[in-house]
Amino acid sequence: YLLIPNKEVALTEVDTDAIYGMQSRVRSLFPVMTEQSDYFSNYKLNLYRAECPLWDNDNAMCSSQGCAVDTLGENEVPNIWKQLSEFEQPSKKNEKECNWEHDSKLDYCYLDEVSSGQECVYVSLVGNPERFTGYSGDHTATIWRTIYEQNCFVIDDDESSQEKSKRDSFYKPGMYPFQLTPKEDDIISVSPSIACQEKRMLNKIISGFHASISSHICENYYDAERNRWTRNLECWLAKVGNYPERIENIFFNYALLHQAFVKIADQLEDMEYNNNTFCPDNLAIDARTKLAFDNLAFQSQQDRKVIMSSKLFSDEESQRFKETFRRHFHDISRIMDCVGCDKCRLWGKLQMTGYGTALKLLLESETHLSDLRPSEIVALVNTFDRIAHSVQSSFWFQLRRRADLSVK
Ligand code: FAD
Repeated sequence: YLLIPNKEVALTEVDTDAIYGMQSRVRSLFPVMTEQSDYFSNYKLNLYRAECPLWDNDNAMCSSQGCAVDTLGENEVPNIWKQLSEFEQPSKKNEKECNWEHDSKLDYCYLDEVSSGQECVYVSLVGNPERFTGYSGDHTATIWRTIYEQNCFVIDDDESSQEKSKRDSFYKPGMYPFQLTPKEDDIISVSPSIACQEKRMLNKIISGFHASISSHICENYYDAERNRWTRNLECWLAKVGNYPERIENIFFNYALLHQAFVKIADQLEDMEYNNNTFCPDNLAIDARTKLAFDNLAFQSQQDRKVIMSSKLFSDEESQRFKETFRRHFHDISRIMDCVGCDKCRLWGKLQMTGYGTALKLLLESETHLSDLRPSEIVALVNTFDRIAHSVQSSFWFQLRRRADLSVK
């Protein structure tokens, strides 16, 4: 018996078999992009100098070797990223009429490029893989607690009460002094009954994001005793597998990102004929990446049988709630700058940007591929890769568990 979600969950009808089929087809395309292409395998971000809104981050840094990030020296930065950086200069942007200089009011995430372009560093995502780093303890507990208690929504129904009582048993009352933006207005606008499925969506995205991080930790776990990297079933069960709703939320996030790709599928195909999509005149994505991108576009079109069903923010009340939703998501993205482990912060920031980009594509009808900044597109592709991986590992771990049980 596998712990696979197969019931209708709030705003999605997650067809597990379909997702599994899709992710195995799509996954084979990712390594070409996320590992081999200069464009998608690197990222630019403000990793060290962005302000943490919760506390002075100086005391919080993780000294573990596993947390360190190798940044790229000037000579190592791929040409494509150098080109893109040039076009970030305001004067050049105007010259080239880049589409991605657009209204940041539509953003769901705090984006480094917008506020701190000069302080950014370049990193190779391949050289700094997301995996177990040893970062844990009070610091991580406070960050996750801040995210769940201050920035996720309270939903007043049986399912969420069960989740909440589980959380309450973990979180000690009074240990939770941090709050980002004052939420007084939320008390009025966020009553439990308003925009319920939209609130549920935010909670699910965050829980799925957390479960996906946990999956990668357990799939790439450092066994100090044997001095080797390994898959750790106990770790996965304790963090993900024993909580069916967390697996469900991984699938939910897969569905969400997949939908974002479905929305831009036609535009992805056009990229082959339109090198201006990312702004520089000659976008040097190699032929294999283009082929993979084309295949992804083709695959997304094939998989158009939509897995997310409901209309979001459709009535007047939930429309009004959208700004609150956006602010909560934005605040969570800022908390990523409080993460005290460099490598965890890198991947936390990247994936929050990926989810924020998917939300922008899905919830802001006027947003198209050409409106996205390069870092958003790279984050979207890599976040899709990460979540596809987590879907795959949830199957792998469950099969492994079943095999272990049958031996016993
Ligand atoms: P935690 O994962 O810290 O969870 C805290 C509590 O939250 C749990 O006890 C449970 O009550 C609740 N909870 C757990 N999972 C969920 C869920 N999916 N949905 C809802 N509630 C949940 N460590 C690494 O080794 N590598 C990384 O790359 C890494 N990246 C991180 C990125 C961020 C943004 C943060 C905040 C932390 C990161 N960490 C990383 C640390 C890691 O997430 C854990 O905090 C750490 O491994 C300790 O885990 P834990 O078992 O104590 O529970």
